[in-house]
Amino acid sequence: MREPKWADEIREAILELGGVASLEDIYTKLVERNVRSRTANWKDTVRDAIQQHSSDSKSYRGINNYFYSVYGKGKGIWGVRDVVTPEVKKNLNSLFEETREFELEELIQQGTDEEIEQLINNYSGLGSQAKIEVKEGLQKIRKASKVIIDKLKELYDYSCQICGINPSSIYGVNIVEAHHIEYFSVSQNHNPNNIMILCPNHHRLVHSAKAKYCREKNKVVYENGYEEVLKLEKHLLVRKDN
Ligand SMILES: [Zn+2]
Ligand SMILES: [Zn+2]
Repeated sequence: MREPKWADEIREAILELGGVASLEDIYTKLVERNVRSRTANWKDTVRDAIQQHSSDSKSYRGINNYFYSVYGKGKGIWGVRDVVTPEVKKNLNSLFEETREFELEELIQQGTDEEIEQLINNYSGLGSQAKIEVKEGLQKIRKASKVIIDKLKELYDYSCQICGINPSSIYGVNIVEAHHIEYFSVSQNHNPNNIMILCPNHHRLVHSAKAKYCREKNKVVYENGYEEVLKLEKHLLVRKDN
């Protein structure tokens, strides 16, 4: 039997790890899967294959842009660009059109499997087979975005990026939330570059007052013109220059 291409096998391994993984975890998973035979320098082959299939890398070959560098150069954390098929993505987009962004973010981050199932079952625009695929697709997206959101919350020590308040240090509970700069309902983009960590007050304000994030000036601009420079910023302005 012909062996799968390294890029395809790596893609499967990362998906099994939730859609985002460190090089070390990828190596471990590949050994565990044991689908491809490995030469003495197989780890170099794996690294090369990832870079050749990522437009974030200088070695990108220009086709099959499977991977993205999650936290920028040298961090060794890779994500799979399209966690779901284009067909599932299209169905998710039409499903999300009927859901408000704020509620969708809440559902993705804190919702139970039953609540997700309910959302999909209540939507009349899908046949039964499509519903199953959409459900599975949404689970994959949730898994991948959870890995990233948890890491980001940790990076900010559970503080709000706008006001800098750290509820966990005062009250001992972690209540910060992830906000998607480009709406998740539109893009399903869970790249860290698209996520901001906010306290519940600011998260609600950002949605209610239709705030936009201005990356060049690192500030949030509300509908009435009021502006706030982010007190904490450790990841949104990172340049991807590898
Ligand atoms: Zn805040
Ligand atoms: Zn939000």
